[in-house]
Amino acid sequence: MNNLVQKGTTICAPATQGGGAIAIIRISGPDSIDIVKNIFKPADNQIDILNAKGYSLIFGTLYSHDEFLDEVIISLFRAPLSYTGEDMVEISCHASHYIREKIIELLITSGAVPANPGEFTMRAFMNGKMDLSQAEAVADIIASDSEAAHRLAATQLRGGFSAEIEKLRQELLHFAALVELELDFSEEDVEFADRFRMTETIIRIKILVDTLASSFRLGNAIKKGIPVVIAGRPNVGKSSLLNVLLQEERAIVSDIPGTTRDTVEEVIHLGGLSFRFIDTAGLRKEEVEDKVEAEGIGRTISKLSQAAVVLAVTEATDSSDEIIAFYKSVKNIQAAPGSKIIAVINKTDLLTTGQTGGLRETITESGGFVPLFVSARESVGIEDLKQHLIRSVDTEELKSPQLIVTNARHLHSLINVSASLERALDGFRNGIPTELIATDIRQAIYYLGEITGKITGDEILGDIFKNFCIGK
Ligand code: GDP
Repeated sequence: MNNLVQKGTTICAPATQGGGAIAIIRISGPDSIDIVKNIFKPADNQIDILNAKGYSLIFGTLYSHDEFLDEVIISLFRAPLSYTGEDMVEISCHASHYIREKIIELLITSGAVPANPGEFTMRAFMNGKMDLSQAEAVADIIASDSEAAHRLAATQLRGGFSAEIEKLRQELLHFAALVELELDFSEEDVEFADRFRMTETIIRIKILVDTLASSFRLGNAIKKGIPVVIAGRPNVGKSSLLNVLLQEERAIVSDIPGTTRDTVEEVIHLGGLSFRFIDTAGLRKEEVEDKVEAEGIGRTISKLSQAAVVLAVTEATDSSDEIIAFYKSVKNIQAAPGSKIIAVINKTDLLTTGQTGGLRETITESGGFVPLFVSARESVGIEDLKQHLIRSVDTEELKSPQLIVTNARHLHSLINVSASLERALDGFRNGIPTELIATDIRQAIYYLGEITGKITGDEILGDIFKNFCIGK
């Protein structure tokens, strides 16, 4: 079908990267067991791996040209009961770089070929073990770093999302069949499908498709980390605030060996979600800003359009008018639809309790919003701020993870489905001939099929799997 899968071959690749005690090498294809037999001797010499049943675990020794290489356990799978649907062996060896390389070399000399990125999962897709959206979820579940991201990927991996798409596709297929039946009998001028009910059904499906498409904003934010921007004039304490928010996170992260913070954006994990602070580099350097920038808004405009949550930070020594004006200006420029603003007043340690109360009252009455009072210096109100961040995400939607789109490719297909259905509806309204309407419905079915891989071109497949790691 394509050259992304090396047809008929047996592939091998390490499935684990980096350190750890144990590494896994994966082998898949018709000659997997034969190839492994060449280099592996079971500890129990009664065992012949060529006759071993699927799901056997066998302890033994790997040899490189009769020389001991490692003690390993092999997991043996028989087609079709394996990840790829082919015969497979997984070798669990010690995680030395040398041992891993040597095993791969031995497997290749014995007839295996190195796997392409994602080729194991691609074979699983080709052999009907999973559909395309499930295959994509394999990469997502590996990358998921919060409970919510994991839940979305897991639902997709287990076919929840595909099932929703398939339901819609089946409904449209049924529909297209009726319309086409009519075309077959066009001479006799019969109507198998009631026009009114047809329109109703298409409208209902289109609403569902549009709802799915609009869930992408949340789905993508959850998958990649919810983008947060801290906006405010210089010196209100934006970076101090970021630092207190990150403090506990740093403590956790720096305990994990080999993690570097330099390359990652600042991320905090709260309530099963990850929040990604964008453009924090700008907060860290000395800010030399001109008059417009001194308003704390100019530089922020482009950032705001990327944010799902904006922390609009002012300081307690500002007047209530200044605080309200800043909040409103952020509200006015904020471009991203559905995003939330949290008004944060920092440096409350500089006010008495009475002054804080007065300021709160004035702002609530005249500004029409309730600000959060914090002190980054004294770590006051930070817990409250975290709770506000969590609540800023629509968790109601998350209760139906199967209805959340996390993948840009799926979004693109859904937009095309919606446009095709809109054309079909227009057709009905304007009395366009049935065969043209049938074409639009066929188009919608086609685009839905793209999502689960009922319809795929090599280009789509190549695009998806090139982002996979080797060994997946
Ligand atoms: P940024 O320019 O908005 O990022 O502000 P910084 O975080 O660099 O803080 C500016 C100044 O305000 C520094 O001198 C901080 O020590 C001080 N500052 C920050 N947060 C607080 C706070 O909660 N209370 C007080 N009194 N000072 C603070």
